[in-house]
Amino acid sequence: MRILVVNCGSSSIKYKLYGVQMGEPLAAGMIEGLGTAEARHVLETGRFRKEIVMPVPDYRRGVAQVVEALTEWGSPRLVGDPEEIVGVGHRVVHGGEQFNESVVIDSSVVETIRALDSLAPLHNPANRAGIEAIAELLPHSTGVAVFDTAFFGTLPPHSYRYAVPARWWREHGVRRYGFHGISHRYLVERAALLWDKPEPNLVSFHLGNGASACAVRRGRAVDTSMGMTPLEGLVMGTRSGDIDPAVVFHLMEAGLSVAEIRRGLERQGGLRGLSGISADFRRLAEAADAGQASAALALQVFAHRVRRYLGAFLTQVGRCDGVVFSGGIGENSVRARRMALGGLETMGLVLDASRNHGRGERRISTDDSPISIWVIPTDEESLIARDTARLVTAEQD
Ligand code: ADP
Repeated sequence: MRILVVNCGSSSIKYKLYGVQMGEPLAAGMIEGLGTAEARHVLETGRFRKEIVMPVPDYRRGVAQVVEALTEWGSPRLVGDPEEIVGVGHRVVHGGEQFNESVVIDSSVVETIRALDSLAPLHNPANRAGIEAIAELLPHSTGVAVFDTAFFGTLPPHSYRYAVPARWWREHGVRRYGFHGISHRYLVERAALLWDKPEPNLVSFHLGNGASACAVRRGRAVDTSMGMTPLEGLVMGTRSGDIDPAVVFHLMEAGLSVAEIRRGLERQGGLRGLSGISADFRRLAEAADAGQASAALALQVFAHRVRRYLGAFLTQVGRCDGVVFSGGIGENSVRARRMALGGLETMGLVLDASRNHGRGERRISTDDSPISIWVIPTDEESLIARDTARLVTAEQD
């Protein structure tokens, strides 16, 4: 029995294969450059690595490639017979108000995901294309949709409603949905185990190219920095995060088009926009060390925004058990954590400088810090695999 986890993005398919025991994946693969004549497909296992470059015009051909790789590459083959793949977990970005938990996919689920396309125009159509291709190529498998928004189904109205005309909410779905929910849920479940506390109160930060914060009270999300779309909140690689919405009409009145403003906020903003150098935190840290002032400023604005949300979210979780850092920056950057957490001793957050320099999953606060601070590497695929295995088993019973 095998579980496949699939993440279809706008130009890539990422996948991981799990055995019944879950734990570490048996294989991880990725097709990049989907829709081009030179797509790159890499598959890695503990034993071998294979890479090919070939045209992959669409998701159906991409998924066919994935099935071929799993059943034909390597020796022994990872999957002897495609029917061994009993469950396929799909990451789906937007579940709207309809999906507060993972579900077995049927035609009505696909239609509901389609109806949410307008809220996630870059992501949901790609996720759906992956679901349809798998249904065709692995017809015996049970498909499971795991939503990036679902963890935020517990947000109270005072946290998910915007102070805009109520009509916009009713007629256009204008509200906070939140994203990165699979990662934040993984962090909460992991913290619950590590802290031996089934329903912890915490603030979690997923800091990668996309970045978000989540306030968790008694194990449930009560607030998040991301909004109706993944543009709100923290400073990201190329996304602005929070701005005054009046900036948009100011720029429109100055003659910029909607497309130009969108590009500025989504692709040319964030660390890239501020620094004018790069969207990559590590590169900016090097540039700042080399004396480039705009890089140093970008890092400062990034850290300032993290601190702002940290302070705000500590007011929402009750007696806080811990603050968790994850994502490429949150897991790896000593500097980002130092800038975000420095000087907060009076708030009960005491960073331990030497633990901050360590690696992997660990506590990075001092033993006597009133609120503990942790680095927990996220593992979204393992959570998708677990949900998929659970729902497949429930189907079979
Ligand atoms: P994504 O959101 O695309 O999954 P990641 O979680 O991989 O992105 O995060 C990418 C970011 O993590 C980049 O800004 C990169 O510079 C940063 N990063 C990765 N490793 C390090 C490191 N050792 N030190 C500082 N930043 C790092």
